[in-house]
Amino acid sequence: MDSKNHNWSRRDFLRAAGAAGLGSIIAPIDLLAESFNESVAMPTRPFGKTGVSVPILGFGGSLDLDQLMLRQAAKWGATYWDTANSYMGGNSEKRIGKYLGKYPEDRKNIFIVTKSHAWTVAGLTRDLNKSLERMKTDYVDLFFVHSVRSINELDGDIKAWSERTKAGGKIRFFGFSTHSNMEECMLGAAKLGWIDGIMMSYNFRLMHSDRMIRAVDACARAGIGLTAMKTQGGGSVRTSSETELELAGRFLKKGFTDAQAKLKAVWENPHIACICTEMPNITILMSNVAAAINRTKLSSHDKELLHKYAQETRSDYCAGCTDLCESATKSIAPIGDVMRYLMYCHSYGDRDRAAKFFKRIPQRIRVEMANLDYTIAEQKCPQKMPIGKLMREAVRNL
Ligand code: SF4
Repeated sequence: MDSKNHNWSRRDFLRAAGAAGLGSIIAPIDLLAESFNESVAMPTRPFGKTGVSVPILGFGGSLDLDQLMLRQAAKWGATYWDTANSYMGGNSEKRIGKYLGKYPEDRKNIFIVTKSHAWTVAGLTRDLNKSLERMKTDYVDLFFVHSVRSINELDGDIKAWSERTKAGGKIRFFGFSTHSNMEECMLGAAKLGWIDGIMMSYNFRLMHSDRMIRAVDACARAGIGLTAMKTQGGGSVRTSSETELELAGRFLKKGFTDAQAKLKAVWENPHIACICTEMPNITILMSNVAAAINRTKLSSHDKELLHKYAQETRSDYCAGCTDLCESATKSIAPIGDVMRYLMYCHSYGDRDRAAKFFKRIPQRIRVEMANLDYTIAEQKCPQKMPIGKLMREAVRNL
C-alpha cells in the first residue's frame, strides 16, 4: 500500500489477488486493478417501490470497518452500507461516522442501512438517535427492526413510529431483517402495506423452496425491496464428492470461484435488489466487485449442479425454519440462533464471534440445552440436521 496517499496501488491489488489464489479470476481483478482509483460501472437495481436504485453489491458492516475498505467500496460503487446499532458494540457505526466526517460529500451517494433490536417505540427512537450521532448524519436511508422472527412483532405502534419518523426526515424507508421463519415474515409483510424493505437469508440452498419462491414473489408484488444476506449458504464448496469436484472445477474453468458463482446464483433472481455481504479484506471486496461487474451468467447446468450440491449437503445447512424445531423443544433451546453461531465458527472460521454470541444465552439454558431430547425436532427438520449433536457441540466448544 502506498503509505503517502493511503490508497491501494495496482501492484497491491495484484499481489493481494495472487496471495488469495485468485488466478482464476485474474481478468476482472486486473480490470479492477487498472481502475483502482476510479469508479467502476456497478450495476444497480430498483429497491422495491421506493423509487431508489441500489447497487447489486452491498457492504455488510458487522466488522470494525477499515477506512480504506470503505473508501474503496465507495469508489467501486458498493455504496449500500449495512450496519446495526449493536455491531461491534457501536464501533461499526462509528467507523462510518469517521468516514463521513472525512468525506462528507460521499453521504449523498451512500445508502445507509442500520438496525435496532428495540421492540418499543421509545427504544427505537433512542437507538436511531444514537445511530445518527455515531454516523454523523441527519438521516438513515433504511431503518430495520433487527432479527424479526414473526410478523406479529411489528405492531401498530411500530407502524405509527415508522410513519412519524419518516415524516420527520430521520429515516427515508423502514423495514426489518430476518434470519428465522423468513418466508412467513416476508409473506406477512407483503400483506401489511407499510414495509419498504426486508433483509433476509437467501442463497442457492434456500432460493428453490416453494415457500421462498412464494415469499419473494409476494414481496416483489407488494413493492418491498429485498436485500439478500448469508448468500454463501455456509462455507466453500468442499471437494469430497463427485458433484463438489465437478462444481468447483466447472466454475474455475469459467473463470469463477465457487464463492463468486454463489453470488451470481442469487443475482439471477431480478427481485433481489442487493446482496449484502461482509467483506473483511480487500481481496474479498475485489472478488465480489469482480463478480458483480462481470456479465457472464450461470448456465442452466451450472444452476442444476449448485442445486444438486445443495441437496447433497443439506444436512450441513440450517434453513432458519425455527418454528418447526423450536416448538418441538418447547422453545427452550434457541436452535436457530445456535445454528447461526456454529456457522460463524465452522464456515467463517470466526470462533470468537460464535463464542461471544453463544455466551449471551443464559447459563441455565445452556446447561438445559445439553440435556434436551431433540428426537422430535430432528424428525421435523427438513434439512435432516443432527440437531442434538450440534447443540451439544455448541455447549461443549463455545
Ligand atoms: S435446525 Fe432444521 S428445523 Fe431447525 S431451523 Fe434449522 S433447518 Fe429448520
